[in-house]
Amino acid sequence: MISKPILTSGIRPTGDVHIGNYIGAMRDIIDLQETTDAHFFIVDIHSLTTHSDETSLAKRTIDAAKLYVAAGLDPHKATFYTQSVIAAEITELATYLGMVMPLGELLRCPTFKEKAKKHPDHVHYGLAGYPVLMAADILIHKGELVPVGEDQLVHLEMARAIVRRFSAHYGPLFPEPKPVENQSARVPSLTGEGKMSKSDGKGTTISLKDPKEVIEQKVKRAYSDPLRTHKVKPGHPTRTGCNVFHLHEYFSEPEEQQSIQTGCQTAEIGCVACKQMLATSIERTVVPIRQTYEQLTDADIHDLLLMGKEKAKVSAQQTIQEVREAIGFYMY
Ligand code: ATP
Ligand code: MG
Repeated sequence: MISKPILTSGIRPTGDVHIGNYIGAMRDIIDLQETTDAHFFIVDIHSLTTHSDETSLAKRTIDAAKLYVAAGLDPHKATFYTQSVIAAEITELATYLGMVMPLGELLRCPTFKEKAKKHPDHVHYGLAGYPVLMAADILIHKGELVPVGEDQLVHLEMARAIVRRFSAHYGPLFPEPKPVENQSARVPSLTGEGKMSKSDGKGTTISLKDPKEVIEQKVKRAYSDPLRTHKVKPGHPTRTGCNVFHLHEYFSEPEEQQSIQTGCQTAEIGCVACKQMLATSIERTVVPIRQTYEQLTDADIHDLLLMGKEKAKVSAQQTIQEVREAIGFYMY
């Protein structure tokens, strides 16, 4: 039997799962769950680097898991669990990986610098070690393929470097994990500042749970082409020229994008109409997910997570055993 490539993917339960998470990672894992040995986990330990809203961690965890199932993740095909159920194995592996990862590289990592600048009161050892823990999430199952948005490519590159260094010391135990091809999605925030992020708050993202009216209101207020001050002026429908056009690239069909581009450049379509079209395109993507989400209960998700927990543990324990042998501990 030809073995399927091992895929790993996770999401932090730091807030409402949004359309950026869907484009950057979620839809790929759902597409690839047939052809890969997929592992999908809610990254609850990683979420502790962010001090999230008032909702409890357990509630946020179930909610994120429910949205993935609603979007089409099938726990009968993918191994579905929460990271903390294999905390012992993950943190042990992260400790070993941390021994081959130079501290300077972690401190120079652009995502670390960005988070440290945004939240100067939350610069912990754990934040600097985020890429090492992420490498452990992937390598604990010997992951080969990782669907990620553009923001995580730098972490994946660090995981590859960790594998090379680990192999140089202890032999070739791990494959070098690769991003899923054609991955470079970076869905922008509605404010036009940076990427859409759960932890930046509800006003900057569109959640997969948002009803139609909320999507419309949020898109109406979204930052657009700053140079198009009047409808009669032609706009700049490019990724960098207009945030709303950038969003159209992810959610509208190619022919819709074409007609918006022409209409905007000739001032035939104004921002109000263009935004209404974007809201319709986003609603088209989100509606089946939202409807299924509303039918799922917490008990359904609990049962599905229980199914994956044991499978994840077996795989994690197997890897840890091999790692201890490769390192050469005296075992008894
Ligand atoms: P947080 O603000 O808590 O970091 P987040 O929105 O960045 O939340 P993560 O849980 O960190 O979400 O990431 C989950 C997955 O979604 C990752 O694969 C990440 O690359 C992807 N992702 C996150 N934001 C975007 C985005 N705006 N565009 C594309 N992909 C994204
Ligand atoms: Mg993130």
